[in-house]
Amino acid sequence: MNDVQPEPTQTTDSGIPIESDAYSLTVGPDGPILLQDSYLIEQMATFNRERITERQPHAKGSGAFGRFEVTNDVSAYTKAALFQLGTTTRMVARFSTVAGERGSPDMWRDLRGFSLKFYTSEGNYDMVGNDTPVFFVKDPLHFQNFIRSQKRRADNNLRDNDMQWDFWTLLPETAHQVIWLMGDRGFPRTWRHMNGYSSHTYMWINAQDQRFWVKYHFKTDQGIEFFTQDEGDRLAGTVPDYHTKDLYEAIQRGEHPSWTLHMQIMPFEEAKTYRFNPFDLTKVWPHSDYPLVEVGKLTLDRNPTDNHTEIEQAAFQPNNLVPGIGPSPDRMLLARLFSYSDAHRARLGVNYEQIPVNAPIAPVNTYSKDGAMRMVNRTDPVYWPNSKGGPQADDEHYKPASWYADGEIMRAAYVQHAEDDDWGQAGTLVRDVMDDAARDRLVSNIIGQLLNGVTEPVLERAFWYLGNVDKDLGERVEKGVRRGQS
Ligand code: NDP
Repeated sequence: MNDVQPEPTQTTDSGIPIESDAYSLTVGPDGPILLQDSYLIEQMATFNRERITERQPHAKGSGAFGRFEVTNDVSAYTKAALFQLGTTTRMVARFSTVAGERGSPDMWRDLRGFSLKFYTSEGNYDMVGNDTPVFFVKDPLHFQNFIRSQKRRADNNLRDNDMQWDFWTLLPETAHQVIWLMGDRGFPRTWRHMNGYSSHTYMWINAQDQRFWVKYHFKTDQGIEFFTQDEGDRLAGTVPDYHTKDLYEAIQRGEHPSWTLHMQIMPFEEAKTYRFNPFDLTKVWPHSDYPLVEVGKLTLDRNPTDNHTEIEQAAFQPNNLVPGIGPSPDRMLLARLFSYSDAHRARLGVNYEQIPVNAPIAPVNTYSKDGAMRMVNRTDPVYWPNSKGGPQADDEHYKPASWYADGEIMRAAYVQHAEDDDWGQAGTLVRDVMDDAARDRLVSNIIGQLLNGVTEPVLERAFWYLGNVDKDLGERVEKGVRRGQS
């Protein structure tokens, strides 16, 4: 007996059976095509509208679904439901490059996005992280210019090392991230072989309303691996989607990648007197000051079945903070709390949170209403206050994550802490973390960049900049570039 199911009848998007997928409706075999061929028109019209606006930045990426399991009791630091011992939370992750467009190769030296959305019992919690613990700039006014300098010129539409190094060397706060990027970790072998960091400082709040400043470190259980520039350059031509392919195929093989989440936790009051400004996104908290505290394990165990609806339309936003987690005075974070949801409204429409990948499992009881592409039926009442049994805010159980702020309104740098400077931690990375072989690769990567289109006066400024990070690094790079030019 043949138990193969018959194939379903093909239909239009309205579910009407179609007669042919081979021939348009014509007047005789050689005659004109008829406007009444609604199926052909639907095919052409939907095709013309397949692409949606790509992300700006982080356009190229892919992702997978998974779970987060808490293995260590951190209830002393947070009451967030997803971080309570024994809890397992379903989640989605998206990895990406920063500067490239949707079709660009994965095989570029760049930071990688490490975005997570946890479907918690108290609403969606998003961590929009990167594979680096720091970032290029510390004030959001610099961000737009930074991204423009990494993307394409106006005249020839090309990426341009001169433009990148011009921006970086005029803004010394970029030094730590630039050294990190030019080092081995600036070219991860796969997304499975890199760490993820919140980079920003967040607040955790426990059940007694005690507050802590925290940083998230998702350490890869696969081990750190990287590509040399030559290996990556070759793959950019032969397997440009290497990272996308690797993640998908690993999960398909049943090799589920995992990361162990560790936190750095700073008591609330220590922030003021800590030797570095703990909210400056260009700095790390040295592990010797704030050792890692293990929390749990993130495992990716399911590939998307439709990349467009589940990954391209996944909308991560750092303002999705659940009870027990709050923001911090990090200016970059505070700006991102606005800019991500704004980007989603622009790119996906005001009701993007009703797209299934973005929809919480927690009940949604909101007075928001209408707008394009709204899917969920509203019920009355549609206003507050009301005497009709509508949802009520709960200020007894839920309080804003807060800290004290006071001062004159101004445009100014952060208050300096004792050891704040732009070069110190970058220098530590070069001298104390990298070994000789890693330092050699760093020098060679930078020389390769500077010889590829960087002109005076940017070049001279680059030697000064690198020499401030580490005297030896500056001298070696200058010598190498001058040799390469002769
Ligand atoms: P530690 O010696 O305690 O930590 C050094 C860190 O550097 C480790 O987390 C290690 O990651 C990471 N690392 C190793 N090789 C590289 C590389 N080529 N590029 C970037 N990171 C690398 O030192 P500190 O905490 O005092 O930090 C010293 C420097 O290390 C910092 O200035 C910063 O540049 C870098 N760093 C610090 C981190 C932090 O949060 N404190 C996090 C990551 C980097 P792993 O354990 O996975 O090998």
